Amino acid sequence: MARSKDLAKYEFKKQLEELRNVKGRATELISLYVPPSRRISDVTNYLKNEYAQSSNIKSRTTRKNVMWAIESITGRLKTFKEVPENGLVFLVGHKSGGGDMTVPVSHVIEPPEPISTFMYRCDSRFYLDQLEDMLAEKEVYGLIVIDRGEATLGTLNGKRIDVLKNIESRIMGKHRQGGQSAQRFERLIEIAAHEYYKKVGDLANEVFLGEEGLKGVLIGGPGATKDTFAEKDYLHHELKKMIVGTFDTGYTDESGLRELMENASKTLDDLSIVKEKTLMKRFFEELRKPDGGLSCYGENEVRTALERGAVDMLLISEGLSKLRIAFTCDDCGESGSLTVAVDKTLKCPKCGSEPDIDSEQDIVNEMFDVADSYGTSIEMISMDSEEGEMLMKAFGGLAAILRYRMGDT
Ligand code: ZN
Repeated sequence: MARSKDLAKYEFKKQLEELRNVKGRATELISLYVPPSRRISDVTNYLKNEYAQSSNIKSRTTRKNVMWAIESITGRLKTFKEVPENGLVFLVGHKSGGGDMTVPVSHVIEPPEPISTFMYRCDSRFYLDQLEDMLAEKEVYGLIVIDRGEATLGTLNGKRIDVLKNIESRIMGKHRQGGQSAQRFERLIEIAAHEYYKKVGDLANEVFLGEEGLKGVLIGGPGATKDTFAEKDYLHHELKKMIVGTFDTGYTDESGLRELMENASKTLDDLSIVKEKTLMKRFFEELRKPDGGLSCYGENEVRTALERGAVDMLLISEGLSKLRIAFTCDDCGESGSLTVAVDKTLKCPKCGSEPDIDSEQDIVNEMFDVADSYGTSIEMISMDSEEGEMLMKAFGGLAAILRYRMGDT
């Protein structure tokens, strides 16, 4: 379901953000990436070797911490019979906790997409590039570069281009044979061109129609051929509807695909935030109406509406970073739930002392839970657009479009 996929993506993003901020006091943070093809025993042997080498580390604390990290990973590895289908990532070590203090950290991640290369690093930070790339790789585009001599098909997956087919045309050269009239010659060329476009179209249908998550088709080439190809019905109507645009490229081979990606990147960036902008516009339209129409914003108002089942669509900023905490105060007996910024300590609203925390949850997860039980749809809004930034800065990161006006019901 789209909703839980959104939540999973959000949680993953959040986790990476936290990990990016982890700093080691020394080179004592281990990043280990295990691709699905690796055998657990191979990884264990690799770690044995690293463990032996780490005994040479001069600093006593660093040595102790690195050895602890390797032991800890080896221990966790034993709990797996085999490497899961997307591989495993271990991020383990001691992070700096201010002054001379260090705090152990240990993360075992089953990534949302397969790990491609084995990597072991011991540094004062975690290596997250492979994981971060997975966040970017969410949309697939079909790529076609074409002129009258050649066409190449490929897919764009995040920043990765896969070349799928290369076709050369059999359109005859410029020299007509003796006895042919110029007119007849032209006619034959047009027929050959049509056959060639048709062949490219058929191949594109074959490879792109089955492509899961295809978001659009980009067409490039040096001349007018790409436009002819895009406008006529060589592509299946489902694909034709998905044409994002045509772009000039100098080549029609593999390097043409790369040019196409580069020349279309601005358009693609815009495209991904168009949906978010449209959703925010709907909210602003309501907001502009007398007494706010069906708009609702701010945590308390949104929460109330949500709990009454009055929210049609919940808009949550990706910049929202708060915890929902259930507490009990030993000093005055007060208990309840509060929302606090991640880096703030909790104070009892009645007496000001620090209460016991009964449970805590990221506010976004909590909102997803509540929304789920009322069939409310949720949209995560990035801060990449002006509208998205406004949601965070002017509306506290939470807004909603209501099913009905709340009034005094
Ligand atoms: Zn209290």
